[in-house]
Amino acid sequence: MTSALLPNYARAPLAFVRGEGAWLVAEDGERYLDFGAGVAVNALGHAHPHLVAALTEQAGKVWHVSNLYQIPEGERLGRRFVEATFAEVAFFCNSGAEANEAAIKVARKYHAAGGHPERYRIVTFEGAFHGRTLATLAAGGQQKYIVGFGPKVDGFDQVPTGDFEALEAAIGPETAALMIEPIQGEGGVRVIPPADLRRLRETCDRHGLLLIMDEVQTGIGRTGKLFAHEWSGIAPDILSAAKGIGGGFPLGACLCTREAARGMIAGSHGSTFGGNPLAMAVGNAVLDVILSDGFLEHVAQTGLRLKQKLAALRDRHPRVIEDVRGEGLMIGLKLAVPNTEFAVSAREAHLLVIPAGDNVVRLIPPLIVTESDVDEAVRRLDAAAAGFEALRGAAE
Ligand code: PMP
Repeated sequence: MTSALLPNYARAPLAFVRGEGAWLVAEDGERYLDFGAGVAVNALGHAHPHLVAALTEQAGKVWHVSNLYQIPEGERLGRRFVEATFAEVAFFCNSGAEANEAAIKVARKYHAAGGHPERYRIVTFEGAFHGRTLATLAAGGQQKYIVGFGPKVDGFDQVPTGDFEALEAAIGPETAALMIEPIQGEGGVRVIPPADLRRLRETCDRHGLLLIMDEVQTGIGRTGKLFAHEWSGIAPDILSAAKGIGGGFPLGACLCTREAARGMIAGSHGSTFGGNPLAMAVGNAVLDVILSDGFLEHVAQTGLRLKQKLAALRDRHPRVIEDVRGEGLMIGLKLAVPNTEFAVSAREAHLLVIPAGDNVVRLIPPLIVTESDVDEAVRRLDAAAAGFEALRGAAE
């Protein structure tokens, strides 16, 4: 039967009815190890009891109140981010793109409030992904997402990642901010070296620009720190977070210093569902787990184990796997065979992974993943890679 849904996703013929930890159960009862949805939604795995309890408890009290009233759970979540990060104020919304839209608006208002409304342009990086709204598409550095949606929203200038000469050339009197993912996710798990992040901070300071860190994919523990930029020792002025922050519930955040947010006053920006009590209850429950003793160490250690085992796999299948890269539980396999085909083979071995740019598949399991889950995933990848070796061998 033809689907009633807009065909804008290449959906696999597979529906899941239940989840538990890093595992999903399909309609036919088959179990799949979920090393894909982790980054998108389930930092804490499927049906985490603490999140289920927080959501259902809040659902029995109040789901939504207008942002014209106090929302204590939101105040609490904001306070916790202020205590744990560089930020001094938080704005909550419902997605990554919306968090980036807020970040862009905060940066422009900062300059407008300082008497420089002409400073509106944002420099971003080739290969970057910042969302699917029209402004965040224009901010992104991958042409394929924009085709047919023109005209491109004005105000964004892309430069090649790591090219500081091109960056200096792109900065002009109208530039307001730089916006960067510390590890490009959709771009293929491309890690920006911490030294480059430090240099970007210095560039911003020298030109009076704000630094916006898009941590939608890298944040909330994914790399073994609450936010990935912490590895570099620098702090941004504005940060966007989403995905893992809601453990699968729609929730985004724009975190700022008070100085960066100096232009934002009552009425400047808003979102009907942003910061609603349900989302805030879930966000607080997520932080309870992420910030609990030893949790980030668990992410770093399990990530290291995954990376080491994958390096051994690369050595065993050099004609299939070219490179292993990433930080913590955000790992990319750069392939010598088509990544979409490899992802299908992995799925046939009941392991879910997500293709990304630059012919990469991403391994982004829930952060609660166990060592035995990691070992199982690597065994399944081994089987998928061996299948490609056999095909290659037959073709030669
Ligand atoms: N920024 C980054 C770095 C992302 O990876 C994504 C989603 N892939 C987004 C923004 C957009 O997030 P959302 O789909 O929640 O709008």
